Amino acid sequence: MRVVTSRAEMAAAGRHGCVLVPTMGALHAGHATLIELARARAGACVGGTLPVVVSIFVNPSQFNEATDFDVYPRDLDADCAWCARLGVDVVFAPGVDVVYPPDEDVPVGELPAVAKGPGLEDSFRPGHFAGVCRVVRRLIALTGAAAAVFGEKDWQQLQVVRAMVEADRKRGGPDVEIVPAATVREAGGLAMSSRNRLLDAAGRRRAGAISRAIRGAGAIRSPAQAERHMAGVLEAAGLEVEYAVVRDAETLGEVRPGFPCRALVAVGVAVAGAGGGVVRLIDNRPWPAVGPAMETIAG
Ligand code: AMP
Repeated sequence: MRVVTSRAEMAAAGRHGCVLVPTMGALHAGHATLIELARARAGACVGGTLPVVVSIFVNPSQFNEATDFDVYPRDLDADCAWCARLGVDVVFAPGVDVVYPPDEDVPVGELPAVAKGPGLEDSFRPGHFAGVCRVVRRLIALTGAAAAVFGEKDWQQLQVVRAMVEADRKRGGPDVEIVPAATVREAGGLAMSSRNRLLDAAGRRRAGAISRAIRGAGAIRSPAQAERHMAGVLEAAGLEVEYAVVRDAETLGEVRPGFPCRALVAVGVAVAGAGGGVVRLIDNRPWPAVGPAMETIAG
């Protein structure tokens, strides 16, 4: 496995294309499933195996709060050891100047509707998706990605990236396959997240209500009642509810009869010690619940 930081090294490593796993580091079992999917996708390429590239870059332009950026966990050595064990070919760990060279304009471009309209992450994290689109376009260009893996855990982000890549492709941009990865959960149901490291014991216990709320909503057939159920469970656990909604799974607009739906939640968990004292967590599941859960429980 190689760890590269410069543009030239990355261009050489990805000259025949690659399968990219974009991350902000502090890797956990959720990232591991993305890497495993990337390896499977890389091995299935016509004409030979592509390298798997994991990018580790805490992207300042997608943080709408400086304190959140400051306290975001970072541990490059542990991340590289984790990647080596998982059979990653290249870790791309660029500095800010490599991703956003001071002498080069990196335009955001037009944001897709799903990044602006739903009133979810787009409203609670103003500027977040502009930062996501900017960095994803940039990482695709720097790595020469033929495919990129994104987690369903960040459901709105997945829809935004899909829509952005498709719009770019129609305008003559690269044809990048977006591969979705199911959410990996802890034994109690809490979706794995780098931010879980910022929870204290009490916060972690309260955060268990997030997956309970969404699972419970899956058994309720009315979207409005499902939303009330989620809000009730989250508030009873002492969580600050930003949204707890049932939406169309693709547009994240209002539910359309006959189209897949998703229950989505964002909460703040008050803890002692994290920057600002609140850890923001998000989660989602298909709604209504169908068959056995698709998510993996990390062993
Ligand atoms: P992050 O490092 O948090 O920016 O996440 C990098 C990628 O990992 C994103 O595509 C996330 O959606 C994905 N991811 C984060 N947590 C999980 C999880 N628990 N299960 C599956 N994918 C995840």
